[in-house]
Amino acid sequence: MATGDNPSAPEDRLSAVEDAIARAAKRAGREPADIALIAISKTHDAAAIRPVIAAGQRVFGENRVQEAQDKWPALKAETPDIELHLVGQLQSNKTEDAVALFDAIHSVDRPSLVKALAKTFAKTDRRPSLFVQVNIGDEDQKGGCAIANLPDLLARSRDAGLDIAGLMCIPPYGLEPAPYFALLAKLAEENGLSALSMGMSSDYETAVMCGATHVRVGTALFGARN
Ligand SMILES: *Cc1c(COP(=O)(O)O)cnc(C)c1O
Repeated sequence: MATGDNPSAPEDRLSAVEDAIARAAKRAGREPADIALIAISKTHDAAAIRPVIAAGQRVFGENRVQEAQDKWPALKAETPDIELHLVGQLQSNKTEDAVALFDAIHSVDRPSLVKALAKTFAKTDRRPSLFVQVNIGDEDQKGGCAIANLPDLLARSRDAGLDIAGLMCIPPYGLEPAPYFALLAKLAEENGLSALSMGMSSDYETAVMCGATHVRVGTALFGARN
């Protein structure tokens, strides 16, 4: 069944995810208000996104700069208090576009990108929140900074004047995610960082119980992507 068939579905899905976050927070002795839900709208068009905005959601995430540039300026013009997060890989030559459009970047993962961001910051007053993405499962094919390189990347960020808010990860597919979330939380604590971007549709409740401050949920809100 096409998920767009039921006009009330986006609201229902949003409140179901919000309720699940609140339950997981309570179980962990946390305040639900301390967890930001980022609605990941990649591949979905404005017609699919508007009902989620109408239901009250204001924080959205995309994984490609170009796709976000095509969709979001118009949506932001309709609803100015939208907060937009970049959760996908960022090429160093796209930092100016990314900083202009996004309020947070979750994919800082290498020294060349730190350098490019610092150069961009010198030309603009915009300061998106920054997360360092960690390759938490040490997977060859995955983006993110190697765990062993994290202290160096954080030091370079500091030296370049970049304020890193926290860490982000995508655990290995098909494995129990909790140990990877716990490891990311430990790395954040060791490095004095408070924000933790972790948890997707299949595991955001576990992530909340492990300390996530930002969960990135697409499918559970928008339905399956093509
Ligand atoms: C697509 C994506 C998500 C959302 O995934 P779902 O399983 O659809 O919730 C979260 N984080 C990143 C980095 C993504 O690319």
